[in-house]
Amino acid sequence: MSNAPILLTPGPLTTSLRTRQAMLVDWGSWDRDFNQLTASVCEQLLAILDASASHHCVPLQGSGTFAVEAAIGTLVPRGGKVLVLINGAYGQRLAKICKVLGRRYSTFETAEDQPTTAADVERLLTADAELTHVALIHCETSTGILNPLKAIADVVHSHGKRLIIDAMSSFGALPIDAREVPFEALIAASGKCLEGVPGMGFVFAEKTALAAAEGNSQSLAMDLYDQHAYMAKTGQWRFTPPTHVVAALHEALKQYTEEGGLQARHQRYADNCRTLLNGMAAIGLRSFLPAAIQAPIIVTFHAPDDPRYRFQDFYERVKAKGFILYPGKLTQVETFRVGCIGAVGAQGMQAAVDAVAQVLREMQVHTGTQLLSEAL
Ligand SMILES: *Cc1c(COP(=O)(O)O)cnc(C)c1O
Repeated sequence: MSNAPILLTPGPLTTSLRTRQAMLVDWGSWDRDFNQLTASVCEQLLAILDASASHHCVPLQGSGTFAVEAAIGTLVPRGGKVLVLINGAYGQRLAKICKVLGRRYSTFETAEDQPTTAADVERLLTADAELTHVALIHCETSTGILNPLKAIADVVHSHGKRLIIDAMSSFGALPIDAREVPFEALIAASGKCLEGVPGMGFVFAEKTALAAAEGNSQSLAMDLYDQHAYMAKTGQWRFTPPTHVVAALHEALKQYTEEGGLQARHQRYADNCRTLLNGMAAIGLRSFLPAAIQAPIIVTFHAPDDPRYRFQDFYERVKAKGFILYPGKLTQVETFRVGCIGAVGAQGMQAAVDAVAQVLREMQVHTGTQLLSEAL
């Protein structure tokens, strides 16, 4: 077990032994104990957002994208129109989902290092009265940029429009309070900041909006209205549940509470992020985003400007030292990414930085500063 690599990736990520051990039991899908597990998970998830009065938690089998697609397909009526705010690959995916589902949409795209602003959204909503919804990525995981959720939510609300938030990589770590941030739906998943294993998403859907969403979805399996109605009536998942994933998430949530909940999780990730940024700066690796818009979730670094650097070689060598990194996702500049989330602390992050430094030295890659040799 101790030889298992540390995943510095934004999901799947490093999970605790306890969480993995929770998957050693088989559960019957209509068993009362399993249904209680599901109910307890949903209740705890709603509490993280302070949303139990206003929203339902609708779990859905599949990866996070399944839940995003289900939310748009269920909550945006066929005659609706979505304004999609884009500054990275996950924003692009939102637009693609609207396209595939046949929902009308328009896009507003800023550069990958530029947050969407509330002023942008104000202007766009004023200009197009047909818009019914706005879709936003909270932390755009393709770079790690944080978009100003509260300010955008207030503008959307003041226009009487509805907000759909992909908070996949921020939920559980960055504070969001449903009593202060108006939204119709917020989407997250088991295998990100809650440190569960991948396999299920969940949509926090406004109760009134979900009640009015019957018949919107043109998919059977992805219909959140139906999924919720069935679960409310029977306590069971509509189709075969990812039983082991639910059990692991339940155990992960226990540890989340023991650690101190959102505040403690946020603090640990912020410490991880700071350790990573300081350590990488000391060996001459520059981060792509300015600190002010960097979420403590995942950091994009510029690749060293040296012909001896090749990502695949770098990746394999760092992996051999026990750390799994993540390729960059930018089209214009060569980068790589390092996640700050998962069951890992500042010591683990420092060990990862040390491994990177050693590998760059082995590869004889220069990072543009003389600090590399000094740091070793
Ligand atoms: C992880 C993630 C998703 C979901 O991606 P999957 O590959 O379907 O798990 C969606 N949006 C964001 C911002 C994410 O970080």
